[in-house]
Amino acid sequence: MPAPPPVGLCDACRHQRLVPNTRGSVFSLCERSRGQPEFPRYPRLPVLRCPGFEPVEGRDEPALRGRP
Ligand code: SF4
Repeated sequence: MPAPPPVGLCDACRHQRLVPNTRGSVFSLCERSRGQPEFPRYPRLPVLRCPGFEPVEGRDEPALRGRP
């Protein structure tokens, strides 16, 4: 089975919710999409930049945010 595509920034974002389906796949859902239509429910992966990114507490990803 091929490896899943890289998710990118969402994996370190507190607005991500992982949604498994019955066939064993896991989808990356953006919780900001609720009430904020500029954020797609299932963003195209990998997400490399996002104005809505907020790090999961204690899991900041400085390399993905473009900081040294
Ligand atoms: S706000 Fe941006 S980085 Fe965070 S889960 Fe949604 S699309 Fe991904």
